[in-house]
Amino acid sequence: MSTVPEYFGSLVFDDRVMRSTLPADVYASLRKTIDEGRELDIGVANAVAQAMKDWAVSHGATHFTHWFQPLTGITAEKHDSFISPSPDGSVIMEFSGKELIKGEPDASSFPSGGLRATFEARGYTAWDPTSYAFIKDKSLCIPTAFCSYGGPALDKKTPLLRSMEVLSKEALRILRLFGNNTAKRVVSSVGPEQEYFLITKEMYDKRPDLRFTGRTLFGAKPPKGQELDDHYFGVIKPGVQAYMADLNDELWKLGILAKTEHNEVAPAQHELAPIYTTTNIATDHNQLTMEIMQKVAAKHGLVCLLHEKPFAGVNGSGKHNNWSIATDSGQNLLSPGATPYENAQFLLFLCAVIKAVDDYQDLLRLSVATAGNDHRLGANEAPPAVISIFVGDELNAVLEAIEKDIPYEGTKKTQMKLGVDVLPKFNRDTTDRNRTSPFAFTGNKFEFRMLGSSNSIACANIMLNAAVAESLRIYADRLEKAEDFETALHEMIRKTIRDHKRIIFNGNGYDDAWIREATEERGLLNYRTTADCMPHLLDEKNVKMLTSLGVFTIEEMRSRRDIMLENYCKSVVIEANTMVDMARTQIIPAIEAFAADTARSVAAKKAVAAELPCRYETGLVRTLTGLIDEIAGKTDELEAALLTVGGAADIVEESALIRDILLQAMGELRVPCDKAEMLTAKSYWPYPTYSDLLFGVK
Ligand code: ADP
Ligand code: MG
Repeated sequence: MSTVPEYFGSLVFDDRVMRSTLPADVYASLRKTIDEGRELDIGVANAVAQAMKDWAVSHGATHFTHWFQPLTGITAEKHDSFISPSPDGSVIMEFSGKELIKGEPDASSFPSGGLRATFEARGYTAWDPTSYAFIKDKSLCIPTAFCSYGGPALDKKTPLLRSMEVLSKEALRILRLFGNNTAKRVVSSVGPEQEYFLITKEMYDKRPDLRFTGRTLFGAKPPKGQELDDHYFGVIKPGVQAYMADLNDELWKLGILAKTEHNEVAPAQHELAPIYTTTNIATDHNQLTMEIMQKVAAKHGLVCLLHEKPFAGVNGSGKHNNWSIATDSGQNLLSPGATPYENAQFLLFLCAVIKAVDDYQDLLRLSVATAGNDHRLGANEAPPAVISIFVGDELNAVLEAIEKDIPYEGTKKTQMKLGVDVLPKFNRDTTDRNRTSPFAFTGNKFEFRMLGSSNSIACANIMLNAAVAESLRIYADRLEKAEDFETALHEMIRKTIRDHKRIIFNGNGYDDAWIREATEERGLLNYRTTADCMPHLLDEKNVKMLTSLGVFTIEEMRSRRDIMLENYCKSVVIEANTMVDMARTQIIPAIEAFAADTARSVAAKKAVAAELPCRYETGLVRTLTGLIDEIAGKTDELEAALLTVGGAADIVEESALIRDILLQAMGELRVPCDKAEMLTAKSYWPYPTYSDLLFGVK
């Protein structure tokens, strides 16, 4: 068996392969395209395509596909084979530069939110050379952007690339003001920590709710849940260990830097974190990781659940988006430096983030909004739906000192005047409180913790990159005109702290008192559900910021709002229909069978000895029969709610009805069903219980 360094990235057409297979001039020209965004000419594309094809074929590939990320949230691919007929009846393997650069999938059934009706029916895919091509299932996968003819983006990659571009541009303006004339690009990077559940395929197959919706819609609380905290970082079970080892191998071959893995808080819950990379590659890699996690699970007789809340009453799964920005030479702009000047620069970038998060709380909130994630946010297991920033006590003291122009009482008394003082070394705060913060500074990066486990990280990073670019643009506009740079800089940092300190909160985010303070005293937004936040994508300030930076067009924003709301509505409606079906065709009949058998046994016993009281059994039959009536009634009510939702005039109204009526009716149907589960003999119950599911993997 070969060693990890030998097979790491073996299925990736990465820099090593490019350098060794491409003619020197072609390699140099491709590198310029990758590093500096230069346009690629067709001659170079042809040479790259040829080398890519030869390499892919030598690794067993027979097909190629433009791999893209439509707005469904998952990835899409359309496979074409390399084969081309030859006059002598044989075939040759062919792949041209044109095929590499552009594809035309028949994409008419991907969601476009009306865009394709307004523009052109067809969409096309365009090669993104900044993310390496790779081989998956005998296909050469070429990461691509997906647009409609006439321009509008139909995917998540296009606006992400635009947001990276504009962030780089504005950050460079700031760096020039600090005398940095060498940086060519500023790159945003992310390390996403991915949580997931593993259950056995055998159990999964018996639950229509898991199969159709990714989460359990019924299920009584297990006698043992996560109360003992004995799973978190606990010993990994052999079956899970084997899965993780296999998963790492597959990810490593694809050049994905899977680094840490451990058990999470809930039973059967685990986490995988890669080493960070650019937001673009990290997004592609995270999508691939989620796909490979599910594929590898299938090989082990397991199912990997990526839903945010597979089990009620058990911690759900999130994804922590560790984000920072660095220059092309590797200087992390969110890392406090060693010199006063570097520190002033650090504080300015820090302020840009603080301002961005405060000004665009709504965009960050809606970038993580899905029906699934609504179950987590604010449920005391994940950050609240209110956005705030944790900076830690030390940095907080520094910011206060600057704001009030008072001495900083840190390790030693130092007057905080920018450009003069050395900042103290900040300790990475590892206290528990910071785990409750939606957006925490962790020493040299921010950790955005509101993402759901199934979210594409593209959306969050588009908004984050864009909002920070907007702060930097405002700063650069002012500073470039300033007569005295240092004074202007100092004033601007002070002003940012004064204007935006309401977003800084270092306390316990799970505390109800915080939600009151945040909303009533600080005026922070609290959009509890997808239906609440999504319409705000189109608020004037958001449209202005995102369109003026060129991250989205107004048409793209409108279509995205509609698609996100459609996804929300469809997910919940499918859940409701699944509940109706399960209740009528399996749950009621199961309770009925058990109640009837119990009644028969009462009759049989009484036939033997009429004086037998059979108190328990008789009571049970009564209770179960009552529950059947209740379940039938609640099922009818849920169906009625579905009809009401179906009558909505538009998608915004539909989402509001789902929030106000449908979810309520679903909750009410669940209660008697879960009660019945606890009273019904296990052999009659049609589904594996929560205990079976959560403790089934050996
Ligand atoms: P935690 O205590 O939250 O698990 P880790 O140090 O393990 O923190 O890092 C979590 C993630 O943060 C990893 O994916 C890591 O690669 C990423 N990370 C570390 N430094 C940076 C950075 N400068 N930019 C982006 N992500 C980073
Ligand atoms: Mg973390």
